Amino acid sequence: MKQKERLRVLYVEDDPSSATLVERVLGAEGYEVIVATDGVTALEIASRVQPAIILMDINIGGMDGYEVTTRLRSIEGMRRVPIVAVTAATLRGDRERALIAGCDGYIPKPINVDSFPDQIRAFLGGLREEVESPEEKARYLEDYSRRLVGHLEEKIRELQEAHAELYRIDRIKTDFIVLASHELRTPLTVIYGYTRLLLSNPGIPGSVEEEGSPRFFLGKIAEATKRLNQVVGDILDISFIDANKLDLAMEPVLLGSLVKSVIRNITEMGTERKLTFEEEGLENLPLITGDSQRLHQALWNVISNAVKYTPDGGTIHIAGQVMERTIHLTVQDTGIGIDPEEQERIFDRFYVLEDTTLHRSSKTAFKGGGLGLGLTVARGIIEAHGGRIWVESKGRDEEQLPGSTFHILFPLPEENADHQHPSTDPLEQG
Ligand code: ADP
Repeated sequence: MKQKERLRVLYVEDDPSSATLVERVLGAEGYEVIVATDGVTALEIASRVQPAIILMDINIGGMDGYEVTTRLRSIEGMRRVPIVAVTAATLRGDRERALIAGCDGYIPKPINVDSFPDQIRAFLGGLREEVESPEEKARYLEDYSRRLVGHLEEKIRELQEAHAELYRIDRIKTDFIVLASHELRTPLTVIYGYTRLLLSNPGIPGSVEEEGSPRFFLGKIAEATKRLNQVVGDILDISFIDANKLDLAMEPVLLGSLVKSVIRNITEMGTERKLTFEEEGLENLPLITGDSQRLHQALWNVISNAVKYTPDGGTIHIAGQVMERTIHLTVQDTGIGIDPEEQERIFDRFYVLEDTTLHRSSKTAFKGGGLGLGLTVARGIIEAHGGRIWVESKGRDEEQLPGSTFHILFPLPEENADHQHPSTDPLEQG
């Protein structure tokens, strides 16, 4: 046997001493014993290594040995592999239950070291046990189905409880973040207010550009406080969006002008990023009803992301058109792109793709990170206006730069939908 390829035995057993004993006994006979300590691992190993025989302890945690056996039998290539229950359970009917679940035999534990190798050889040689009487077989089958459903129900209940617990913990975390943000906002407003007051005082020497002067330091404090205030604001916005309580001050809004003012804001920040902005069809967009400040915020988040994830020399193309009573805005960049599996997750709160250990906070620098709230807030605002936002990209590639295109849709109220087209109403044509 030594020269031949060693036969593989998969032993599903969560008790280390039983595993060691079987490994020793069968190892001495030239078998290769692979131990799996739970059912899910056993299923994974079985499909991968194609064992010659599987020894199954019935009383394992999670899926029990019966269930693992039934599942193994449904795997292509496992239908004919002998599965032998090796178990200490000695209740009446255990053998029958094991056979009904799909086992070919039953060896009680503790194993008899002397006869064990012969028993294994017999199963490898084709021995198959069966429940003899058809009536008994039917009864055990029914009993087994009931057990399976019972176990499934128990697992579903456990999952529901775990889910409820996770939800509760998540709520506590969110409540804490919101509360902490509220607490931060008040002192921040005070710091920001007094800093602005000091900056307006002509007695403060220097200028905000003159490094090292008192006015320069005050300028930096004001800038940092403003940024901090925005972060706190984003967190509070998310809590309003989550609770469906985003207050919108509705008024007529020209989206094209909003986009232009966002672009102006970004370019005025003096980013020196050497990016080209292209605009298409923005002038002709019809009026919508919305909260212009909130919409500005949403567009800012999307367009500033296009800036952040596009290397110098790139282009950001923003286009608008009306299609089927909907305004369709696209923000297309020539940046690093986003992998398909991430394209929905980036709208989740606190979700950032960049390595957080290399995090640097910036609103416009290449790959300058944020809190991972920008797109969550943008989606919340857009959806509160009855709109939709999603992204398309071939994938992420920092060399080839496939780019990303964010699509934003806003529905038009019925009477505005044909705004762009000459009226066909005979009364108006008079
Ligand atoms: P942050 O405020 O951290 O930028 P966002 O919610 O705005 O968070 O974006 C989440 C993640 O989505 C970012 O960390 C980034 O990896 C990815 N992302 C957003 N916009 C783009 C884009 N235009 N190109 C490539 N990746 C992007």
